[in-house]
Amino acid sequence: MKGPVPGPERKFRELKAEIISVGTELLLGHTIDTDAAYLSQELAVIGFDVLHRCTVGDNRGRLAESLRQALGRSDLVVLIGGLGPTGDDLTKETAAEVCGKHLVMDEESRSRIESYFRGRECGESQWKQAMLPEGCHVLRNDFGTAPGCLFRSGGGCLVALLPGPPSECEPMVRHVLIPALRRYSDSVIASLMVRTFGIGEGAAAERTADLMQSENPTVAPYAKESEMFLRVTAKAANLQEAESMCRAMAEQVAARLGHCVYDVNTDGSSQSCLEQTVVRLLRERGLTVSFAESCTGGLLAKRLTDVPGASSVLHMSFVTYANEAKHQLLGVPWELLEQYGAVSEPVARAMAEGVRRVSGSSIGVGVTGIAGPDGGTPEKPVGLVYLAVCDGTHTWVRRMNAPARFKSRASIRFRAASTALDLVRRCVCGLPMEEEPV
Ligand code: AMP
Ligand code: MG
Repeated sequence: MKGPVPGPERKFRELKAEIISVGTELLLGHTIDTDAAYLSQELAVIGFDVLHRCTVGDNRGRLAESLRQALGRSDLVVLIGGLGPTGDDLTKETAAEVCGKHLVMDEESRSRIESYFRGRECGESQWKQAMLPEGCHVLRNDFGTAPGCLFRSGGGCLVALLPGPPSECEPMVRHVLIPALRRYSDSVIASLMVRTFGIGEGAAAERTADLMQSENPTVAPYAKESEMFLRVTAKAANLQEAESMCRAMAEQVAARLGHCVYDVNTDGSSQSCLEQTVVRLLRERGLTVSFAESCTGGLLAKRLTDVPGASSVLHMSFVTYANEAKHQLLGVPWELLEQYGAVSEPVARAMAEGVRRVSGSSIGVGVTGIAGPDGGTPEKPVGLVYLAVCDGTHTWVRRMNAPARFKSRASIRFRAASTALDLVRRCVCGLPMEEEPV
């Protein structure tokens, strides 16, 4: 019964897509809907605009209601989950009924299930998975038993059904669904992320206000944990054109934001990747770094060593909390510790210079601060951190005092590690080490 991919009878200008995730575990918050997040990104790349996303439990009536609503307003509806052999898996039966399709046995899927279970016991309920809407395009499942499918509803809307387990859903989306859907779209999308550190959302928005008005490419800001990303997205007839539109716009955005830009890349995640930039820069220049960490307690070393290849740039890292440790391991003079206290500019400086001397690294970094929630005083409040970077010729010290909304222990430590990484980046690139006037 392996039918052809349904032909593009309608010429879609705008392709409206909608995702319905099915599963009571999703509604209860026990399972995070990673499938829909992944699918949204993949559909965007081939020019489908995901305009609605919803979640329904394993309930026939409510699923039918959501599907009817989706069919009435979208060009493509993708249902995720509920294709398995158990009693609560009712997506296919419901979708077939709502779309006016019969379910028929797909022999190829049946024999795939048979060979999947070869030599093992296979219950009757397994065959239910090979029952598919008549005339559908079968989406083969290389990592499990439940095939997916793509068909047109009676009203002409494209409907896709996908299995729920991410280990099956993601490869099916990437290798089977997206290639099958590409032909319906006359456009593709490319994006670039301009990644900055040390500039606020307001300042970045002001400097790029006119660029943010652009409709294609679009420029959209994301603020995350003291970093600010601007996503540039372009729609064009082919990927090459979309990418070159993106590059041209990203260059303009980057020029407005100056030294705060630490990378422009295709990584769409909203996680920091300062550590990747630092490892790359150090490797390119054949430089090494060592850390002396109080306050961040090894987070700086952890983040740097999350990056493959970090071993060629990180020499050693000390976690020195007690004054004795700062003195014995890094050679911080007792007089400084007694006169200024462990959280002070002179001690941060001595830590950076000390760890550089002890390790023989090109660059030494010292971090000392008060992560809280206790231990703050009016002169030295929670959130006060001194960061020092020494390259053998100069030592720069940055005083960081997190604003009240970032005063949690975790965010103080994360921001301190990010600031240290950014200072290393600036030091290596010969950029101004003082704070930008923004
Ligand atoms: P199902 O296909 O509904 O039988 O789901 C099988 C398993 O896949 C569930 O127990 C979940 O752990 C997982 N799952 C289902 N839907 C999703 C989803 N949208 N995102 C991530 N995991 C899912
Ligand atoms: Mg389920």
